[in-house]
Amino acid sequence: MNVLLTGGTGYIGSHTCVRLIELGLRPVLLDNFANSKRAVLDRIERVTGVRPLFFEADIRDRRRLDEVLAVQPVDAVIHFAGLKAVGESVQRPLTYYDNNVHGTCVLLEALQAAEVRTMIFSSSATVYGDARTMPIVEDAPTEATNPYGRSKLMIEGILRDLAVAQPEWSITLLRYFNPVGAHPSGAMGEDPQGIPNNLVPFIAQVAVGRRDRLTVFGDDYPTPDGTGVRDYIHVLDLAEGHVAALQHGHRHPGVHVYNLGTGQGYSVLEVLRAFERVCGRELPYAVAPRRAGDVASCWADPERAGRELGWRAERSLDRMCEDVWRWQSANPTGYPE
Ligand code: NAD
Ligand code: UDP
Repeated sequence: MNVLLTGGTGYIGSHTCVRLIELGLRPVLLDNFANSKRAVLDRIERVTGVRPLFFEADIRDRRRLDEVLAVQPVDAVIHFAGLKAVGESVQRPLTYYDNNVHGTCVLLEALQAAEVRTMIFSSSATVYGDARTMPIVEDAPTEATNPYGRSKLMIEGILRDLAVAQPEWSITLLRYFNPVGAHPSGAMGEDPQGIPNNLVPFIAQVAVGRRDRLTVFGDDYPTPDGTGVRDYIHVLDLAEGHVAALQHGHRHPGVHVYNLGTGQGYSVLEVLRAFERVCGRELPYAVAPRRAGDVASCWADPERAGRELGWRAERSLDRMCEDVWRWQSANPTGYPE
């Protein structure tokens, strides 16, 4: 089975690629390197012994997509490609709608023409906005709180409309909670450009000496220790969730929606403590005011994915931190240029 991975050299795409290769499937990677590096391909080869097929392309470039799909027919697509920085999306909304929403429409047209009818889409728990009840179930109300989140909700809506118009499509919307972790080899991991927006990459850079201290955004939330609570999920558990969704989606047309999370929330300070255990020293932090747009708590009810896909997350928070630490200490400045 050939599976197109748009955004395939990105953080989640590259780890999913490794898992697909290990299972004997044939990933076909496509990326424009907007937020990833070519060296990822070498690392995938180092880890798996297989160099994946790769096409440099922008999902907004219809002619190029047609070319790729003609050279390399595929049976399904996992659509990771997108811009994902919430703050940047507030500053540059049109860039986000163009890249994420328009890009997805162009991709869908190319897939239609190539008669590909199975898509797994990278959505996000951000579509739940400030959810009132925890854990969050898939049927909870959705709401966008920034242009990034709105681009995800718009794409979900477009995909649902498409499945109504053309019932032969199988669409799976995977709503990720907080992906963290790295490949246990230490050869692959998350490589944010500039100052990390996300908690775990920031802590890892403090641990490796690239940043002085963590800034904790708010300790006055209605949570046990006052800091924000999230559902962190190991990127390899997430990768396995995609494989399960692919196997299910291939057999079941229609629209399917799944939370991919562990069902367990941890506070900012709990994550910091876990990382300290793993790297063997105390990590400095300072409390600052809340970050605009953050919710107090967010964790998944992953029961539906367990029941319908036979998938559940297995890796612990300590394991996530161990794998990030191995990656970060072996590659303090991320992937080579
Ligand atoms: P990432 O930035 O590492 O990977 C995305 C990849 O898409 C990058 O390699 C980038 O170069 C590529 N890309 C972007 N625009 C493109 C375009 N127009 N054409 C071709 N390639 C393009 O991000 P990630 O963390 O791997 O996230 C993958 C997907 O999952 C994204 O859609 C993201 O919104 C979604 N998601 C991520 C998180 C998270 O915390 N990492 C959480 C929820 C959802
Ligand atoms: N956070 C923090 N300092 C940072 C980055 C994040 O205190 O430098 C907190 C943030 O307020 C939230 C949690 O860590 O409570 C997870 O944030 P992240 O940006 O990783 O993911 P989000 O849930 O916002 O997508």
